[in-house]
Amino acid sequence: MKCPKCNSDLTPAIRHKVKVNYCQSCKGMWLERQDLEKLEDEVFDFGEDAKGTLAFSSTPTTAKCPECMAPLKRFNYRFYDLEMELCENQHGYWLDEDEDTRVLELMKKEEADEKRKLLAEDQWARTLKHLRSGSFLSKVKNLFR
Ligand SMILES: [Zn+2]
Ligand SMILES: [Zn+2]
Repeated sequence: MKCPKCNSDLTPAIRHKVKVNYCQSCKGMWLERQDLEKLEDEVFDFGEDAKGTLAFSSTPTTAKCPECMAPLKRFNYRFYDLEMELCENQHGYWLDEDEDTRVLELMKKEEADEKRKLLAEDQWARTLKHLRSGSFLSKVKNLFR
C-alpha cells in the first residue's frame, strides 16, 4: 500500500490500540473504515446511528485512495474543525500526522460534555418530579390557606 501523499510504502502499525497503515516519511496514516470506528469506541460509544454521519461536506483532493486509486475527498470530521480525507468507495480515511490523537481528544471532550449534560438533565428531571409530587403541591396549597 502506498501513501496517498508522498507515495512511500505504508507499514502496519498500532496507534492508540488501533491498527493503522502508517507512513514513516510524512507520518500520516490510513485507517480502514472500521478502524476509525474502533478509535472512537476507545473513548466513547456513539451507537450505530451516529456512525453513519461522519462526513458532512466534502471536496475532492489530488490524493488517491491506496486501495482503489479514486481521488480522496476532504471533509470535516463530524462538526469539528478537523479535516480528514476519505475514499468515496468506503475504503477508509486518511489522517495527517497526529490527527488520530486529535480525534481522541475531541471524543474525550464530547464524552465530558455528554456527562455534564446528563447530569443537568438528571437534576432537572428530579426537580420536575419534586414539583409534580403530591407532597409539594399540598405544601403550596397549605401556603394559601
Ligand atoms: Zn507519506
Ligand atoms: Zn478506495
